[in-house]
Amino acid sequence: MSTLQEIQELDQSHVMHTYGRQPVCFVRGEGARLWDTEGREYLDCLAGIAVYGLGHCHPRVTAAIREQAGTLVHTSNLFTNAQQARLAALLGELSGGYKAFFGNSGAEANEGAIKLARKWGKLNRQPGCVEIITALNSFHGRTMLTVSATGQEKIKKYFDPLMPGFAHVPLNDLAALETACGENTLAVMLELVQGESGVNLCDPEYVKGVRRLCDERKMLLILDEVQCGLGRAGAWFAWQRYGIQPDIFTLAKPIANGIPMGVVMARPGVAEAFQPGDHGSTFGGTHLACAAALATLETMRDERLPERAEEMGQYFVGRLRALQEKHGKIGEVRGLGLMIAVALNVPEAKAVMLRCLENGLVFNAVGDTILRFLPPLIITRADVDQAVAILDGAL
Ligand code: PLP
Repeated sequence: MSTLQEIQELDQSHVMHTYGRQPVCFVRGEGARLWDTEGREYLDCLAGIAVYGLGHCHPRVTAAIREQAGTLVHTSNLFTNAQQARLAALLGELSGGYKAFFGNSGAEANEGAIKLARKWGKLNRQPGCVEIITALNSFHGRTMLTVSATGQEKIKKYFDPLMPGFAHVPLNDLAALETACGENTLAVMLELVQGESGVNLCDPEYVKGVRRLCDERKMLLILDEVQCGLGRAGAWFAWQRYGIQPDIFTLAKPIANGIPMGVVMARPGVAEAFQPGDHGSTFGGTHLACAAALATLETMRDERLPERAEEMGQYFVGRLRALQEKHGKIGEVRGLGLMIAVALNVPEAKAVMLRCLENGLVFNAVGDTILRFLPPLIITRADVDQAVAILDGAL
């Protein structure tokens, strides 16, 4: 096997530099543990950025992938796919009747959601009613349409001309949203917990107000559950914790425990706006990805992982708040389920993250001040205790 330095040189020479890489190369994973090229063990509290709900290489998912890889990987969406139909039925059961369209990533799911909303608008609203309002500091993906939907200047910089039809408002400010809505506003699109900008939670009253406003003005409510969905927020879908129902929502990251998949979910009455020829994807919902997703979701259901995420999230937040008593550098601990942020009073997030990495704990730094923890949903109390002890040392 190559040394870390050899691998880093290859990477630097041949891969475009779109990511700030950390000085570690992982070669193996099991559960909440990772091992690097030097054989060092790490506790993973990032889970591939909210991807590995079941932890790395879960035996049931691995078995399903092996079995399907030896049977049939992909045909085409021109043919009915039994795995896809079963997966859609399971998602329908978990969500209470929403219908699915399968793609390959979160950005692609959001693209699909926006296209579906626009088609619904053509059928149900007046011509020109195309505008979608999203939140400042939101993140919806890196394709041109989703960059345009994203409410962060740093993501848009250099990529103009952007796609028209998006406006952004401050999160949790219902009056600002009401003012921004005009007769050509088609939809409001939100993350109930903003992940990429550092675990910013929507207020429950705000979300109820947004739902009411959408109903009054015949606007669609689109929720991006790419990061907060599928158990992480302590329920199958974060919207279930907020007591509202979206018209469209999107899923991706954890759905197949590491195999790429993105899903547009739409309620009856909206889903039918898509008709043959309106949207598609060569790789969307392959037999392989759907088999992995079915094994993932069935395991999550059998092991009651959404409930576990809430229980372990409360434990983790409790331990971090205790650490806050000890370290004046911690300004705030916030989270929902197992989406957790520690906001520092000092711009030392990267240094703290790197010190923890050296000591065998993986999470990420958001900007200068936020430490973000997105552990696998199978994390144990002993794991949380270990993570908190390493963080304590680094602080
Ligand atoms: N939406 C949200 C809320 C996300 O957190 C992300 C990725 O971090 C995306 C969309 C984009 O997903 P992907 O990277 O799979 O395209």
